[in-house]
Amino acid sequence: MTKAAFYCGDKTFRLESVSLNQPKDEEVQIQVAYCGICGTDVHVYSGHMDQRVGTHRIIGHEMSGVIRAVGKDVNDLNIGDHVVVRPLSHCGQCSSCQRGLTHICENLVFHGLDTDGAFQEYWNVPAHTVHSLPKDLSLSYSALVEPLAVACHDVSRARVVSGEEVLVIGGGPIGMLIAMVAKEAGASVSIVEVDQERIAFAAELGFSSFDARAPELKETLLNQTKGQGFHAIFDTSGVQAGVDLFTEVAATRARICMVAIHTNKPNIDLFAFFWKELELVGARVYEPEDFEQAIKLLKSKKIDASSMITGIYPLEEIQEAFTPAKKLSMKTLVSVSPDLMEG
Ligand SMILES: [Zn+2]
Ligand SMILES: [Zn+2]
Repeated sequence: MTKAAFYCGDKTFRLESVSLNQPKDEEVQIQVAYCGICGTDVHVYSGHMDQRVGTHRIIGHEMSGVIRAVGKDVNDLNIGDHVVVRPLSHCGQCSSCQRGLTHICENLVFHGLDTDGAFQEYWNVPAHTVHSLPKDLSLSYSALVEPLAVACHDVSRARVVSGEEVLVIGGGPIGMLIAMVAKEAGASVSIVEVDQERIAFAAELGFSSFDARAPELKETLLNQTKGQGFHAIFDTSGVQAGVDLFTEVAATRARICMVAIHTNKPNIDLFAFFWKELELVGARVYEPEDFEQAIKLLKSKKIDASSMITGIYPLEEIQEAFTPAKKLSMKTLVSVSPDLMEG
């Protein structure tokens, strides 16, 4: 028997013993080392996604681990490999899949929401979801591969190139990772955020950070770009104020990348899109190459993983991990298997 944390509805996790199942022919069995808490997991925890996930579900997908068993049809992965999972399965039949856009498959299955996930010691997953890690990359840092792959996908969708002015609206974990990836691509990056701790944190990381509530915000931001505006803008805020801001401070022919999940339809200044020939691009999850880029960035130490990890809790304290007492919370990790915990 092994341990698993089940989301049981109404902000409650329960630790249960589950039997250890051998992987199916096309699966591998991973012993989970670390699993980060995603914004989506917090939504589940808060009870907003019960219809989709139910109230007896092991969630978690921002993980790292070690392969412990390999199904008989799996050839390219071995016991002992350090790995992460790109938690998506596609149908292969729909029109998106047929165009090669399997990450936005019309019947997409998200592992850790639609199936059981990584807040358990042993996780069996289809081999096609697995990316191998270099052995010299720590397993705790590797739990950032998934959210970093989101950021890589966003930056590539916005076609950021060296020398550009980039604005990130919202300095949460994804916003911060987008800023890091854009900076690594050679852009000059500014961040707008409401939370004072996060504004200070962004400045510590070397970004120009601005208080979203400051008077004259628009003028300040335009001055930051010597009046020209930003060439690429990422909205991670999901609020009307963010939508108002991006058309105001966009340079001509700017690309605006929609990362946030807007639950309400915002008002958008479409005249600005016409006048400045702006472009709006959506970005959802990631493609395999985004995972490979994320692994490369972490390995080369071009992403400051240690400052992004603001808390690590054992699986027994998953409940506390979802309600961190710390003021500044970027990425909280759960250390799932005690014997894979790093010193
Ligand atoms: Zn996530
Ligand atoms: Zn499909």
